[in-house]
Amino acid sequence: MKFGNLVNSFLLVEIVKGFALTLKYMFFMPRVTINYPHEKGPLSPRFRGEHALRRYPNGEERCIACKLCEAICPALAITIEAEPREDGSRRTTKYDIDMTKCIYCGLCQEACPVDAIVEGPNFEFATETREELFYNKDKLLDNGDRWEAQIAANILADAPYR
Ligand code: SF4
Ligand code: SF4
Repeated sequence: MKFGNLVNSFLLVEIVKGFALTLKYMFFMPRVTINYPHEKGPLSPRFRGEHALRRYPNGEERCIACKLCEAICPALAITIEAEPREDGSRRTTKYDIDMTKCIYCGLCQEACPVDAIVEGPNFEFATETREELFYNKDKLLDNGDRWEAQIAANILADAPYR
């Protein structure tokens, strides 16, 4: 072994260098990590997360039961049943999404003529059972009510590019 290497080993030079690097990143460099879940990173307005069914401001469902989303879904994840109401408008009686089949392609929201079904900004919807990922209309409408402000803002932000 060379004399210089022997001295370096004896004085633990590499370990001291390693500690110095650690201390530099601890105290003097900007942090590159975030303290998730207390902090969250930025999301694009086009982020495709958990699905939601939206309403108009007067509370009426946007969905007109045209079934375009069901037809275009490549994963066959959407199941819709519909019938006319007494006032002649057509509305869904069943709107299910099997989230275990969904591949988050976004085609359902692209196909929707009234911006009813959307993939919202929520990405924290992990469950403990498969059954909890079988979404029905109530769950989807509830998601829409909960996330409407952010969904509407995202649609507005993305509008100039479409
Ligand atoms: S995101 Fe794609 S796979 Fe998922 S429900 Fe919509 S169309 Fe189907
Ligand atoms: S969510 Fe949109 S595309 Fe799907 S049935 Fe309703 S109106 Fe049609």
